[in-house]
Amino acid sequence: MKLDILLVVAHPDDAEISCGGTIAKHISLGYKVGVVDLTRGELGTRGTALTRAQEAMESTKILGLEVRENLGLRDGFFKNSEEDQLKVVAAIRKYQPEIVLANATHDRHPDHGRASNLVYESCFLSGLTKVETKENEWVQTAWRPKAVYCFIQSQYIKPDFIVDVSEFWEKKMMALRAFKSQFYDPQSNEPETFISNPGFMKLIESRGHEMGYSIGAKYGEGFTVRNMLGVDNLFNLK
Ligand SMILES: [Zn+2]
Repeated sequence: MKLDILLVVAHPDDAEISCGGTIAKHISLGYKVGVVDLTRGELGTRGTALTRAQEAMESTKILGLEVRENLGLRDGFFKNSEEDQLKVVAAIRKYQPEIVLANATHDRHPDHGRASNLVYESCFLSGLTKVETKENEWVQTAWRPKAVYCFIQSQYIKPDFIVDVSEFWEKKMMALRAFKSQFYDPQSNEPETFISNPGFMKLIESRGHEMGYSIGAKYGEGFTVRNMLGVDNLFNLK
């Protein structure tokens, strides 16, 4: 299935936390969007790989994603290696996205920056015809996305552009709340983590406000680029 936008991210919930509003907005505009989670998040302190998978499916329904797939790489230990790059290349060629969204280039969790580099390099390799990958025994066609944009996670990074997601903030929060095991729950007996502390939801909210207000909107989500952005007409910039 061909997609317009594919997110390739380290952990189930990375996509929702950082750009759930952007996903919901582009789906409402008629674009086909999918998520490939690299790992099952099996090293997460709270919940299990199974609960994370169930929560990801719930969020998938809320957002209206075309597809959600898990590559089953090792949480915490996947590498930007030839072996893991070829798995990501196969996923990119399978969905032939125009735009790929990836993890933050650097963040508190080392998986995030490593995933960002893995996905960025895999997008380039995916365009090389001599890099061979197969899907169901069939050799795949080379495919290079037009652009790779990196979202911003817990550590603040100055964005290169911001998407106005004001109308889709509530949907993002609904999708986030699907990951019940990960976030603040007064009933939970599991150990507190960086993201289950109630302060984390305040960070999400205030970050959304900050990004939004800086472009004259209520809520926004920021992204960084690795290559220069171009524009045909100055009036297309807001
Ligand atoms: Zn993560």
